[in-house]
Amino acid sequence: MGDSIRPRKRFAQHWLRSEKVLFKIVEAANLSPSDRILEIGPGTGVMTQKLLPYAASVTAVEIDRNLCEKLTKKFKTAENFLLLSGDILSLDLEALLADQDPKFQQPNKVVANIPYNITGPILEKLLGKIGQPATNPYESIVLLVQKEVADRLYATAGNKAFGALSVRVQYLADCELICPVPAKAFYPPPKVESAVVRLKPRAIAPAAEDPRQLETLVKVGFANKRKMLRNNLKGLIESDRLTQILEQLEINPQARAEDLSVEQWVSLSNHLSLSNLESSPVNN
Ligand code: SAH
Repeated sequence: MGDSIRPRKRFAQHWLRSEKVLFKIVEAANLSPSDRILEIGPGTGVMTQKLLPYAASVTAVEIDRNLCEKLTKKFKTAENFLLLSGDILSLDLEALLADQDPKFQQPNKVVANIPYNITGPILEKLLGKIGQPATNPYESIVLLVQKEVADRLYATAGNKAFGALSVRVQYLADCELICPVPAKAFYPPPKVESAVVRLKPRAIAPAAEDPRQLETLVKVGFANKRKMLRNNLKGLIESDRLTQILEQLEINPQARAEDLSVEQWVSLSNHLSLSNLESSPVNN
């Protein structure tokens, strides 16, 4: 298999061909023999092959039927391999796994070189969202993503890359960079640089009292990154009042959205829940 299968653009197929990167990904997953892995987009199975010996099971979800046929052949003797043919975004994983052998139930880790065109929706599928976190969070999620997205995932407040995605994901998980990955590690090389990141879902403390309100604040607050936060939020909160609250929270009233840490976003939201933000048109 490997390079002999022509990659299809439609499914954002780029085969990883660097042994070094494969090793780093598997290492980052910290596998133990009881781990049940979910792999998204196994492609030709290069990574699957590295995972199978170290885990209780690997459940792989692949959308490309041609590849599914090949994967079935390739791993026909691997008893801890389960292939689900379909779209990771729309299939009901829990229902599909329900009548499988117990070793495939409730995967506890995700390891994947994902299709970059659906990174956002995949993150949401795996983590849930601020207003509705995943009910059975994974222990860890190791992903190969576009470098620009990776930068956002582990950026801290004040950093240029810190954006709405950073707050949304970091509210739900700790994020760290494992290693940068050059385009030449793939065939064909993507137009962008890549990186391996590891996410560890956890509950944040203190949590947002009204998570949906926090979602709205983040969305509106980051709407124009060059504007001051208080200007972006004008439609939600009267500017003077916001200045007051920001001062109370010891946040510079001139701050931009990217200057507030995730904790500060949460406390801003929690202070505002006393107000009648519900009546604002943006929240309807
Ligand atoms: N893991 C492989 C392939 C990565 S390329 C490797 O490292 O070599 C991305 C893979 O995701 C491809 O196999 C592609 O067919 C698959 N894919 C694309 N969209 C998908 C979707 N919505 N659901 C499941 N798999 C998808």
